[in-house]
This record gives sequence, C-alpha cells and structure tokens, in this order.
Amino acid sequence: MQLNIAMLGPPGAGKGTQASQLGEVRHVPRISTGDILREAAQLETEFGRAVQATMDAGGLVSDEVMIGIVRERLVREDALEGFVLDGFPRTVAQAEALDTILVDRDPLIVLDISVPSDELVRRLAARRVCGECGEIFGDDLGTECGKCGGALVQRSDDREAIVRERLKVYARDSEPLTSYYRGRRTFAEIDGSRTPDVVERSVQEAIDRFQSSPEQDRS
Ligand SMILES: [Zn+2]
Repeated sequence: MQLNIAMLGPPGAGKGTQASQLGEVRHVPRISTGDILREAAQLETEFGRAVQATMDAGGLVSDEVMIGIVRERLVREDALEGFVLDGFPRTVAQAEALDTILVDRDPLIVLDISVPSDELVRRLAARRVCGECGEIFGDDLGTECGKCGGALVQRSDDREAIVRERLKVYARDSEPLTSYYRGRRTFAEIDGSRTPDVVERSVQEAIDRFQSSPEQDRS
C-alpha cells in the first residue's frame, strides 16, 4: 500500500521536522513546497519560468502554478509508492486539485499538527538564526552558533507582534482547509505541543491505524 501523506500545521508546529523524520523512517520522499519551488525555478519549463518570474517580483506563487509543480513532482518515480507533502495544500483549491491528482492512488492521509498559539509564539520568539551559516536554533542556546561559531540573531519575522499576526493569518486561511479534510477517515489531528519524540510516536500510530483498515471508503 502506498503511503500518501500531507502534513498541515502552523509555523513553529514542527511540521518540517516531523515530515523529514517520517520520510526517512517510511522511505518515502519528503516534498516541501520551499524545496520544489527553488528546484522548479531552475528548470526551463513553463511552470519553472512562471515561478522564477514570481519570485523575482517578490510575489506569492499562484494556486495554478503551485498545483502544476506538485503534479509534476508527484508523478516522478520516487513518489509513486508514497510521499510526505510539507507546505501543500495550503488552500481548498489546492486540496481539490490534489484529490484529482491522486484519484487512482491510495487514500491521502492528512495529519494536522496543532499547537496552541501561545506556545507557538513562545517557540518562535525564542528562535535564533546564525547570521553566518543560517542554522536555526530553539530555546536557550546562547549567543553563538554551535556549528560555525557565528553570532545568533533573531529573525525579524520571529518578533512577537509579527508572529501573532502570522498565526492569525494562518488560522484564518487554514480553517477552510482543515474543514475540507476533517470528516475523512484518514484525517488526524496531532497534538504538536509535546516533545518531538512524542509527537513522532503519535504520527506513526495514526498512520498504522489508517493502514490497518484500508478496505473502508476512500472518500
Ligand atoms: Zn553558524
């Protein structure tokens, strides 16, 4: 059985970490929209040129282009037995398109990593990034990069007021998406406020649960 997964969750929920971990453990590629956009922008395809033009202009890539890029990525050989999508879908239009893309494949498992906003604010406000190498650190790791010794700084978009605004926008935009998936048998909300190890165990348990009863509906 294929392992087709989409991970949802706000900034700071640890979605990227969980997606990477899951991809490694289950031997399926983690497909993050950040990575595929960067990759697509370098390709001489119609979508690639559209992405490059949008990024050059500092804009957001349209649903149509995003869907086209994900569609091209999901038919590559390494994704035929499964994948972990990280950052897609982000809108209901993208989710509907994903259902169409996956129509002949096993049901999509949707894992929504949820964390209370006060905890997200705390995590993001504590986050520091190395000014030299770009490595990101969590709480209380001093003022020097553990990797290269560079000075750690706070990213301007991790300041509290900006974080609260980002989370508000996320909550507003993600609610219709979560509603779109919530009624499905293969949807699970995962409590992301716990340690990464505990969250990972919940993620694995949810997947095992879905895969042990594959005969039920695929809606
Ligand atoms: Zn560094």
